[in-house]
Amino acid sequence: MPRDTSTTLIHHPYRPPAGFEAPQPGIHKASTVIFADVASMRARDWRNKAAYTYGLHGTPTTFTLEERIAALEGGRQCVLAPSGLAAIALVDQALLAHGDEVLLPDNVYGPSRELARTALARWGITHRLYDPMDAAGLAAMIGPRTKLVWLEAAGSVTMEFPDLTGLINVARSRGVTTALDNTWGAGIAFCGFDLGIDIVMQALTKFPSGGGDVLMGSVTTRDEALHERIKLTHMHLGLGVAANDAELVLRSLATVALRYHAQDAAGRQLATWLAARPEVRRVLHPALEGAPGHDHWRAHCTAAAGLFSVLFDARFSSAQVDRFVDALRLFRIGYSWAGPMSLVVPYDLAAMRPDAVRERGHLHGHLVRFSVGLEAAADLQADLEQALAAALGTST
Ligand SMILES: *Cc1c(COP(=O)(O)O)cnc(C)c1O
Repeated sequence: MPRDTSTTLIHHPYRPPAGFEAPQPGIHKASTVIFADVASMRARDWRNKAAYTYGLHGTPTTFTLEERIAALEGGRQCVLAPSGLAAIALVDQALLAHGDEVLLPDNVYGPSRELARTALARWGITHRLYDPMDAAGLAAMIGPRTKLVWLEAAGSVTMEFPDLTGLINVARSRGVTTALDNTWGAGIAFCGFDLGIDIVMQALTKFPSGGGDVLMGSVTTRDEALHERIKLTHMHLGLGVAANDAELVLRSLATVALRYHAQDAAGRQLATWLAARPEVRRVLHPALEGAPGHDHWRAHCTAAAGLFSVLFDARFSSAQVDRFVDALRLFRIGYSWAGPMSLVVPYDLAAMRPDAVRERGHLHGHLVRFSVGLEAAADLQADLEQALAAALGTST
């Protein structure tokens, strides 16, 4: 058969070497998956994600990552989504229909609430916010239209740690499915499934990636019927992840527990140091004595993310607090967390969550959230100290 260069290159008889083994699994990239013959193509069921039909439905690389995330979460099945937010949207779309209601904690990841307020509302799905520190309040809100309760621990930005067991028991006793955004716990601080959660979602963008360079999300289940529903919605929506991104997460996953505990230790050290500073009114870190939900954190968790927020003393203006953030050199200004670089974001809590600020006495003063990276804690502390001195005019 005549062969030009392109034909020869495309049909090059390369096969992955048998007898080759390495610590890292191979990267298998595909939109097209080749079938040996027509009969095997016809025999393959695209709904069976365990067999290969089309790149969107999975490759050896994405299936390997799904299995490992399921293991990390203590679940059985997992699907990957292109971002954490896409994973949240996937759960909502798999479980909710016109006329249903979803309940979100009032400290839920902001874009999840925005999704409910906009797209879900357009599709005739309503939502209400519950106080995650009040299990009895949640019980009173559950009605016949309630089909899903989201949980998050610790809550976004204000870091309250809820009584997970109490909230889960309330939802279960009423037959309502629960979904946990486990990005903070990362499958390391506690196991959502052991507490009775039905669906565990995680932004792999954070701890599992750990590099600040990948966007990905996961939805893990233990229940086969629930997985089936999520998997089919995942396929109908055309969600998939790139093999190169999956490979980056696979590479980082080996060190996720080490990084989690290192950032936890440094985070607690810096949070404790900040709590004793005269410029600081309150540090919101669930592992610190006296923090909102600290007893629940102690009852549920063996570790904490290196993530905390600080409420500055009310005598400082927002401009002064912004100057403090600008004066930091090692903590860089940026969203996301759990990467090697420490990050900082000032939040306007009064605009973000007027209800929570009104109802919870402790939430006034300008809030700054810190994500502790992998730099030496002493260097990070020195950075905080010089920025406090430069912007807030104090030093000790
Ligand atoms: C970052 C984050 C998400 C969303 O993840 P993306 O990959 O950025 O979409 C969801 N939930 C929580 C708690 C997060 O911190």
